[in-house]
Amino acid sequence: MSDLRVIAIDGPAGSGKSTVARGVADRLGLGYLDTGAMYRAVACAVLRRGVDPADADAVVDVARSIDLDLTRDACVVDGVDATADIRGPEVTGAVSVVAANPGVRTEMVFRQRAWATERGGGVMEGRDIGSVVFPDATLKVYLTASAEVRAQRRAGEAGGQDVAVVGADIERRDAADSGREMSPLVEAPGAVVVDTSDLGIDEVVDLVVGMLP
Ligand code: C5P
Repeated sequence: MSDLRVIAIDGPAGSGKSTVARGVADRLGLGYLDTGAMYRAVACAVLRRGVDPADADAVVDVARSIDLDLTRDACVVDGVDATADIRGPEVTGAVSVVAANPGVRTEMVFRQRAWATERGGGVMEGRDIGSVVFPDATLKVYLTASAEVRAQRRAGEAGGQDVAVVGADIERRDAADSGREMSPLVEAPGAVVVDTSDLGIDEVVDLVVGMLP
């Protein structure tokens, strides 16, 4: 595992992970994997197949059998485009419970490690990359930002949605992600914490690239 050049970027919703991780990957010419999109894809397949997200065994079956084609700009689930669906309110509402399912996590972590192994590494963003998926990553970054800034960013991305509504949804997911038993959102040991509240994207990308050994 230690031969791989993995850059782990973790943090809560709206902390700037995706934008920064993409920027770092571009700058270094490395592959980029959005592991949150993988959990969203499983939630999407669960809903499409009419499975109850609370039915743990059935959800694990979905996670194991899902045909997931995730690229930088598109997500295809079981041969059907899901790029927009995985960002929609139904999936966002169901993803926390799906991602808290230990069998789902085991399957997704297996796929995430395989993705990095096939490429010799890459930039991976999520909640548990530095703590669980690649604890010996080349560089571990934990991005954070004030709750207000995070809500504003997500509301802007969602086409000007109400900041208070988006803020409440982020708070709910943060609590679920931080409080779950398996692989909760934590600052991994050895991670460099960067507060992005008052920083521009390029500044954060510069910082991260500058930290690489
Ligand atoms: O990053 P994003 O907000 O799209 O992630 C959606 C959800 O997927 C998170 O709220 C979390 O429940 C889950 N997730 C996770 N572990 C990861 C990435 C995302 O549990 N590595």
